[in-house]
Amino acid sequence: MLKRTLFLALFFVAGLLTVNAQKYTIVIHGGAGVMSKDKMDEEARANYKAKLNEALELGEQMLMDGAAATDVVVKVINVMENSPLFNAGKGAVFTHDGINELDASIMEGKTLNAGAIAGVQDIKNPINAAREVMDNSEHVMLSGKGASEFAKKQGLEIVPNKYFYTEHRYQSLQSLLKRERERTQKDNTGTVGCVVLDTHGNLCAGTSTGGMTNKKYGRIGDAPIIGAGTYANNKTCAVSCTGHGEYYIRLGFARDISAMMEYQNLSVTEACKKEIDKLSELEGTGGVIAVDAEGNIAMEFNTSGMFRGYIKSSGEKEIAIFKNE
Ligand code: ASP
Repeated sequence: MLKRTLFLALFFVAGLLTVNAQKYTIVIHGGAGVMSKDKMDEEARANYKAKLNEALELGEQMLMDGAAATDVVVKVINVMENSPLFNAGKGAVFTHDGINELDASIMEGKTLNAGAIAGVQDIKNPINAAREVMDNSEHVMLSGKGASEFAKKQGLEIVPNKYFYTEHRYQSLQSLLKRERERTQKDNTGTVGCVVLDTHGNLCAGTSTGGMTNKKYGRIGDAPIIGAGTYANNKTCAVSCTGHGEYYIRLGFARDISAMMEYQNLSVTEACKKEIDKLSELEGTGGVIAVDAEGNIAMEFNTSGMFRGYIKSSGEKEIAIFKNE
């Protein structure tokens, strides 16, 4: 009996050590866009970096505790969704009609399961709704009122649309309306995303956004489209995008990165760089974060900045905003 107990105890400790010895990586973004050091004062930079750090550290703690990549992606994105700083959840941008419509998606690399919601006006944390679609429905994407109804049934927090009101996003719509042109404008910095390799060797990617300021006619961007703004496959990588969504949809951006790795044997950095080149060729703007099955990462963009950061189990860590920082 004693022998058996000892054996079980040893087995348990060995198991714990194996989990802890496993590699993990977490990468996040808080949106890419036109950013200049002159226009963002010290305090604003510090606020952004502190929030990115809070999100990364929460994710790292969960990963060290052996959490699954999917749980980490959701909780980390929640930190950014609940902050007015980012164009997701609380800080979502305004549509042409002066309301907020949110999109989000999530994908697991092990099963290729995915969930997304688009054009919702009252779900406090869109990434949680995307996850519910993945876990508890037979669909991949739900939109508008139906998505809200489903989220309510799943017990998610529903808020009035005015919860998403922030003065700076409202003013940014007003100034765009003043100089309105035919095309939807690009003032949308702040979409959030997270990609994770967990200690069990699984990848997951998630993206959440308010879309683009001044969007019209129920416009949906790349963020809730699996293969455009979000993609994950344990064979290759997990990807989350931010930028002018129309270009990302046309390029099949996130899935193309995975395909280049799978069919052309490119590294995650090479594949992301190539895809950003394709974006530039079309004169699209934006960025991407990705992690591969080994924990290698990429954070590429063709704008002047992208809120971004990563932590690896090796102890490497970085949080940055501007190019060449
Ligand atoms: N990609 C998002 C969209 O087009 C916006 C962004 O990432 O800035 O809706």
